[in-house]
Amino acid sequence: MAESFGFQAEISQLLDLIINTFYSNKEIFLREIISNGSDALDKIRYASLTDPSALETEKELYIRISADKENKILRIRDTGIGMTKADMVNNLGTIAKSGTKGFMEAMSAGADISMIGQFGVGFYSAYLVAERVQVISKHNDDEQYIWESSAGGTFTITPDTDGPPLGRGTEIRLHLKEDQLEYLEEKKIKDIVKKHSEFISYPIQLAVTKEIEKEVEDDEEEVKEEGKEDEEGKPKIEEVDEEDEDKPKKTKKVKEVKVENEELNKTKPLWTRNPQDITADEYGSFYKSLTNDWEEHLAVKHFSVEGQLEFKAILFIPKRAPFDLFETKKKRNNIKLYVRRVFIMDDCEDLIPEYLNFVKGIVDSEDLPLNISRETLQQNKILKVIRKNLVKKCMELFSEIAEDKDNFAKFYEAFGKNIKLGIHEDSQNRSKLAEYLRFYSTKSTDEQTSLKDYITRMPEVQKSIYFLTGESLSAVKDSPFLEVLKKKGFEVLLLIDPIDEYAITQLKEFDGKKLVCVSKEGLELEETEEEKKAREDEAAQFDDLCKAVKDALGDKVEKVVVSNRISDSPCVLVTGQYGWSSNMERIMKAQALRDSSMSSYMASKKTLELNPTNPIVKELKKKVAEDKADKSVRDLTYLLFETALLTSGFTLDDPTSFAKRIHRMISLGLDVDDVEEAGEAEASEPMATDEVAPAAEGTITSAMEEID
Ligand code: ADP
Ligand code: MG
Repeated sequence: MAESFGFQAEISQLLDLIINTFYSNKEIFLREIISNGSDALDKIRYASLTDPSALETEKELYIRISADKENKILRIRDTGIGMTKADMVNNLGTIAKSGTKGFMEAMSAGADISMIGQFGVGFYSAYLVAERVQVISKHNDDEQYIWESSAGGTFTITPDTDGPPLGRGTEIRLHLKEDQLEYLEEKKIKDIVKKHSEFISYPIQLAVTKEIEKEVEDDEEEVKEEGKEDEEGKPKIEEVDEEDEDKPKKTKKVKEVKVENEELNKTKPLWTRNPQDITADEYGSFYKSLTNDWEEHLAVKHFSVEGQLEFKAILFIPKRAPFDLFETKKKRNNIKLYVRRVFIMDDCEDLIPEYLNFVKGIVDSEDLPLNISRETLQQNKILKVIRKNLVKKCMELFSEIAEDKDNFAKFYEAFGKNIKLGIHEDSQNRSKLAEYLRFYSTKSTDEQTSLKDYITRMPEVQKSIYFLTGESLSAVKDSPFLEVLKKKGFEVLLLIDPIDEYAITQLKEFDGKKLVCVSKEGLELEETEEEKKAREDEAAQFDDLCKAVKDALGDKVEKVVVSNRISDSPCVLVTGQYGWSSNMERIMKAQALRDSSMSSYMASKKTLELNPTNPIVKELKKKVAEDKADKSVRDLTYLLFETALLTSGFTLDDPTSFAKRIHRMISLGLDVDDVEEAGEAEASEPMATDEVAPAAEGTITSAMEEID
């Protein structure tokens, strides 16, 4: 009666591998079996579209799990399409799929057993927990058969003439290994189903036994008469039914064991429903079950795409950033990919760009093949289109959040960095993303402003959007770089997040207006012809001074020029247009442990800009005119240079010698006659107190007064 077959060689190897590999995450077997049941149900449902009679053999579509503790059997039955004898021979052992080998190769390359489903050999994962597997199946076109194997190279197929008829569908009987009996526990089964199969679109029922008290007529004995024999020959426990009418006679209470089919995946695939019928609460609990978040989401978008390609998706924006958002090594499992309601994977990196790694949700594609592998997914065109659509919808989501200022502030606080990262990475959406940027500015230090709002405040003559980067608001808000811009009424954005400069340099312009860093060379402030001429004429008179200062500073600065951006301070240090700003240099130095090679040649080339209207500068100019070789010019220049380093956002290479110079100034100011200290001054230091003192005194004190 039983016909014996040998497993195809590769399948035999695969079974050995599954049985002998140490692997703790065995629970995935249930996901695979359920997924097969769901596939089979999909097939019969599909067949019934053209032939409604196909369903007559069993009208209800479900997957039912029952645990037989006594016999250590876990059964999973479905009312799907079933298998003919030929199907069993072909699909369960004799015809290897390409995935059989593929999976074994992937395993030896370090893949995880849980990926088995993607290779189209998920069925065999049953052997993770079972020593013997029976598959009883009834297809509309054939009789009922039993497939059976304890691995070991062979399986048998026997006509099932004695067992209870299935009507239609398949029952998998897993004879569990002695150490895998935990999979018979209700709680365990429920947990696994919830974790892996919650969104299967057919009811997954668990036959649970319940002890209930029942009132029966006193003279009546136990309810034995209803006991039927099931296929294993033990009394079948009564199914719950509604015909439980009370009879007003003398009754007594008896305990009774009943089996109820409890539906485990009550959360019907939310995305398959019409958004209009879904309440905010439902989205909330769906979000929570999806993410394990304890709070509800900040925003949600539920949409479907139809046409050449079909998919449904729900995207959520959480309220908070996870504490490890930028922990790059951690895998994100944020967008779950389903194919026709069957969960495929939750860590598909190609589904959404890295910078949107905070967006959570699900995508359910109608077009992708069910057993798609990770590798082929990468080049999959369908996936590329899905990704593009997801990004587009994220942009819409952000715009919707931006309609409410408070909500947007929350969002920006949590995910502003991601937006900036996106500007850096996603050239296609760069200008769209730029709309969501918010910065402090010289006109808005309490609340951050958008670029769009900034533009509305621009005076007519202003052509560019100005910004200054720095470490903190207090470090930049009174920066000398802002002096002339403030006077002109030009607002300057204050960028104080380390990532700002990366983003903004990529952005380059917004709404046709150039983004201009005010601490970099070549700042063209919109001036009238007369203004320009007057400035240039004045600058020409400072040529000698500029030369003298450059001589004094040597290669500490690239050049020395007259400034158009400062009106109060004596000088500032600007950097080259394409080099690092002082802020970038600071950030890079902080990361220097990682790559110190960069900083040496990328470090900013500095230009010292002098303010021709500043009294110190004027005085210096006079000195140079009187005597080009005046030693004090060189010394004072050093002090000016070092203070400019500080006010321009740089750090001092040698703070100690700077401090010494300042202390000497203080001594001068206090008339302290400290000869000893003067003696200590090293030869290399440009300032020797005794030489400088008489000539410089006036200048220094006036400078000190000004600083106060
Ligand atoms: P995949 O599901 O990727 O095709 P599996 O190894 O999980 O690979 O299953 C192998 C094949 O066995 C399925 O393609 C299907 O033809 C058949 N099969 C498995 N389980 C069932 C079932 N419950 N009902 C009908 N056919 C099944
Ligand atoms: Mg499968």
